[in-house]
Amino acid sequence: QNNILLLRSFMILLLSCVAIKLDLCFSSIPSSLKTLSLNGHFTFDENEFAARDYGNKYHFLPMAVLHPKSVSDIATTIQHIWQMGPSSELTIAARGHGHSINGQAQAQGGVVINMQSLHGPEMHVHMGRFPYVDVSGGELWINILHETLKYGLAPKSWTDYLHLTVGGTLSNAGISGQAFRHGPQISNVHQLEVVTGKGEIINCSEEQNADLFHSVLGGLGQFGIITRARISLEPAPKMVKWIRVLYSDFSTFTRDQEYLISAENTFDYIEGLVIRNRTGLLNNWRTSFSPQYPVQASQFTSDGKTLFCLELTKNFNPGKTNTINQEIEGLLSQLRYIPSTLFMSEVPYVEFLDRVHASELKLRSTGMWEVPHPWLNLLIPKSKIHRFAGEVFGNIATDTNSGPVLVFPVNKSKWDNRTSFVAPEEDVFYLVAFLSHAIPLSTGTDGLEHILTRNKRILDFCEAAHLGGKQYLPHYTTYKEWRAHFGPRWEVFQQRKSAYDPLAILAPGQRIFRKAI
Ligand code: FAD
Repeated sequence: QNNILLLRSFMILLLSCVAIKLDLCFSSIPSSLKTLSLNGHFTFDENEFAARDYGNKYHFLPMAVLHPKSVSDIATTIQHIWQMGPSSELTIAARGHGHSINGQAQAQGGVVINMQSLHGPEMHVHMGRFPYVDVSGGELWINILHETLKYGLAPKSWTDYLHLTVGGTLSNAGISGQAFRHGPQISNVHQLEVVTGKGEIINCSEEQNADLFHSVLGGLGQFGIITRARISLEPAPKMVKWIRVLYSDFSTFTRDQEYLISAENTFDYIEGLVIRNRTGLLNNWRTSFSPQYPVQASQFTSDGKTLFCLELTKNFNPGKTNTINQEIEGLLSQLRYIPSTLFMSEVPYVEFLDRVHASELKLRSTGMWEVPHPWLNLLIPKSKIHRFAGEVFGNIATDTNSGPVLVFPVNKSKWDNRTSFVAPEEDVFYLVAFLSHAIPLSTGTDGLEHILTRNKRILDFCEAAHLGGKQYLPHYTTYKEWRAHFGPRWEVFQQRKSAYDPLAILAPGQRIFRKAI
């Protein structure tokens, strides 16, 4: 009896000691962060914003959020955690604008760096033959646009939505309708300043520390935190002609897209959309576009049909309207769209580039911006796009009412294969983006479960049919899947991780590496 009592007391003592030790260990972390000498500051409460993203599916609360005012704040914090060594579980995630889909900018129980509070250095535009702008890694692209336009300049390659940060899009690729011509945003950067997973501040470019430069571009935040970037600029047009036409046949649609991305003097922006069952589609367009043939357009019916919309722009400056109209006519005469569906509008360059923000404001006013967004973005080789479309648009995803579906080709020659980004093997590949939103609590086709199941069916089909596609903004949960994603580039990706973030401190939300403890 006595022995049992003694053993119980001993166990209770042991458990209390472990609990006290754990408690001390965890409570000492915030106080150790508090001792760091910083220009900015940490917050330990009310950090819920850092556990949210656009996907609205994962919500991992960090232990602390760093609001840096200088690059040295970031370096000091990373060095501190690096010096704790593998015995500490602490990880660090840079959070740009938190517009990831699957918690990629979150760090459960770790430190999130609120990159938008890093304002310095001031944006600095350099004129000359090859103009560029130096910006902070936490800068929003919309701010860069406004600043560079003051000098009559603008970046060359964009995303469809500009309220994203430089560090966030450069960690992926940054793909939009200009990518066929200029490559993605990661092909339009001259230089970076990066804080590695050891807390070193390193400048890198094609000429200097080139391996780090290429690692970080498209590197999913795994190798360092981008604190500054030098972005290539070009003269900005004042206006764009914005054109939409429809096709009922996928082969004709893609033939025209492929023709346009390879033509010499072509459009400045080329994208495409799949549209289904949309009653009065052309009537909706009329609110911001004018039909070229109003009578025929008013007789066109879209309900019940699957249509493919080609979206194009041509840049111009006032005074050059005649020339630009002739060029557009020449290009359109080569295409085989449904003639009655030619719609055009003329808008300022900024309005075109910032077009998604206008929809954001409307969606926010109805609470629809904050719903879950189970997006699926795929890169499909040109030779397989018809097989993909037949099965996916014809069978698996037969309604597109839960959000836009983009389909457009890009030229791989404009991508640098030394970066961490992985693309399909062929010279031309398509971005296919299912930009779905889910209606909360719905159990129908617009509900989260239904859309996630559909996404899985699409992925399973791609794998079973050996399409050689890749996920863009990739999301995997197992080591095996990540290995398969990178394919032969996995070894290099791993080597780069051991060189620049050997303790796997950075970007844990991507779920590629786990901090060794
Ligand atoms: P976050 O979500 O904050 O971060 C993304 C990842 O990058 C995380 O792993 C994070 O840790 C890491 N990271 C963030 N900042 C840094 C940094 N400074 N240094 C290192 N790592 C960092 N993408 C396209 O390519 N084309 C589009 O047209 C496009 N349109 C979009 C439209 C909308 C409405 C939305 C929500 C997204 C769109 N995206 C598009 C996807 C978008 O490019 C990515 O989700 C991007 O990562 C979001 O940027 P962010 O600043 O919000 O990054």
